[in-house]
Amino acid sequence: MRILLVEDERKVASFIARALREKSYAVDVAATGEQGLDLAATEPYDAILLDIRLPGVSGIEVCRQLRQGGMETPILMLTARGLVEQRVEGLNAGADDYLTKPFALAELEARVQALIRRGFGKTAATLRCADLELDRHRRRAKRGESGVPLTSREFALLEFLMLRSPDPVTRSEIVEHVWDCHFDSETNLVEVYINRLRQKIDQDHSPKLIRTVRGLGYSLRSEE
Ligand code: CA
Repeated sequence: MRILLVEDERKVASFIARALREKSYAVDVAATGEQGLDLAATEPYDAILLDIRLPGVSGIEVCRQLRQGGMETPILMLTARGLVEQRVEGLNAGADDYLTKPFALAELEARVQALIRRGFGKTAATLRCADLELDRHRRRAKRGESGVPLTSREFALLEFLMLRSPDPVTRSEIVEHVWDCHFDSETNLVEVYINRLRQKIDQDHSPKLIRTVRGLGYSLRSEE
């Protein structure tokens, strides 16, 4: 899942970005409201984390402009402690939720997960396909009775395939949702990761779940 973080304080931004990347999210950071608006207009995000206090265009204004432009991506506002009117203003501007600084990383992760679930219209913390199970809270996968160890990027890829299952996803959708904007889409990394996932998930099992959809991309499903 790919997240846009709009936060002007570099230390805070890199702290949050690192924590989310460790949890398998792809994170792009914008340091100003203007930059945030530009990125949100050109890149597909699964959620936007928006600091309310930004130099220039404020977080509230960014949120208002995104919603006025018809964007439905879930937005989490980061607000200062005690400023109730800021929160109200943020929610009125179209934010889905807010989090008061300072916050615990565990809480941030839980809110982000809840937000993305809502965005996909799914409530399940556990995704299933045949005997494959993905526990999104514990970040664990298992096939049948055996646990499948995944790197954070493999987890992100599998999660994306499962969220869209049984529909196919294109290679560029995978790049857009699983990798952040530093990724060079000319490489064959998607194929490399799909192959690794196949080895871990399908090799010793049937039915094979990860399918190549010719001319399109990949899908994860148990039946033809
Ligand atoms: Ca700030």
